[in-house]
Amino acid sequence: MSVTNGNGLAKAKEYCSEYGLRAKELKAEGRQIIGYLTAIAPVEILTAAGVVPFRLKGWVSEPITKADAHMETIVCPFVRNVFDSALKGKYSFLDGMAMPHLCDSIDRTNDVWSYNLDLPYWHFLNIPHVTDDPSIEFTKSVLRSFITSLEGFTGRKITDQAIVEAVKQHNENRSLMRDLYSLRKENPPLISGVEMMEVMVAAMSLPVDESSALIKSVIEEVKRREPPAGKKAPRIMIVGGQIDNVAVAEVIENANAWLVMDDITMGSKAYWPTTDITPDPLQGIAERYLRKVRVATTYIDTGDTYEENLEARFGHMKRYINEFKVDGVILFVYKYCDPYGFDVPAMKSFIEETGTPVLYLEDEYSTSSLSRVKTRVEAFLEMIA
Ligand code: SF4
Repeated sequence: MSVTNGNGLAKAKEYCSEYGLRAKELKAEGRQIIGYLTAIAPVEILTAAGVVPFRLKGWVSEPITKADAHMETIVCPFVRNVFDSALKGKYSFLDGMAMPHLCDSIDRTNDVWSYNLDLPYWHFLNIPHVTDDPSIEFTKSVLRSFITSLEGFTGRKITDQAIVEAVKQHNENRSLMRDLYSLRKENPPLISGVEMMEVMVAAMSLPVDESSALIKSVIEEVKRREPPAGKKAPRIMIVGGQIDNVAVAEVIENANAWLVMDDITMGSKAYWPTTDITPDPLQGIAERYLRKVRVATTYIDTGDTYEENLEARFGHMKRYINEFKVDGVILFVYKYCDPYGFDVPAMKSFIEETGTPVLYLEDEYSTSSLSRVKTRVEAFLEMIA
């Protein structure tokens, strides 16, 4: 990969718009590419196995034309769109998939995916939804069986040392991405929300060392910039699940606002929690994915009161609002996404109590519904200006 200081943003844009470009090159070089969905797939194990972890995304501007013959339309539109893309051959370079149990839309369609894509390797990770000690032990056994199945597929042993090395690489990658996020704290931010989304999308399509090289290059480039002159505008944070494209960021920034922070699964949810290096490396990995990655499907019962529980579940958003000087929050949830949908009332009132206005939007993971989103966003920005 030819990322050098100075061309990181251009490379990120290219990898974002031609998603899978680098994976195809690596496949041609003989690497094995294993796809995964969501922020709770343990990428450290894939890296330790010597395969390329590749996060699948959808094609938000393309209508679903094949998936609905196989999946009910109450499955969330994100999952249907990604599956549709796979059926259309956009992921023909995959050697296999690691499918974590995030929500019903994924759990109940795992067999449909596996049967129709018919890849050489398939593994379902039954990650639990509660965070107590027995669930950590259960997750460790899920990880052990994942390791055994990957070893069987690749014919290579995955040692504890390789796992620790992979943990270090992914932690470094997360730290670099957080450094890049911190450049959004400037007012105006040094990197736009659209550019940031391009970097995040590109990063999840690359092996971890290449992803880190890309982020480093972008940081160098962005740090050399003069702050954009004369555009003081509302600073927005977006919250939701699988927002994996620039479309919404473009809507927000074309409406004269800055997208300065997120709480989404390809963004801060993936890059804020690190993995502890523990004597049994699976302990640290299990704890990260169960107790640290804040996804709506993990039940957090911390706190003696309802208020304490809300603080445990959403307190990080309050910190983001303060650190990134957020003026307004957009909750962006897909139709039929029960996990995030159920969280909306509590999340909305929790954020509003900080004095920060909230706009709740339900979307269909399609650019065809964006004009409606645009109208709502523009009205919201007018209100908070
Ligand atoms: S958007 Fe919601 S329903 Fe769809 S995969 Fe994510 S958590 Fe599941």
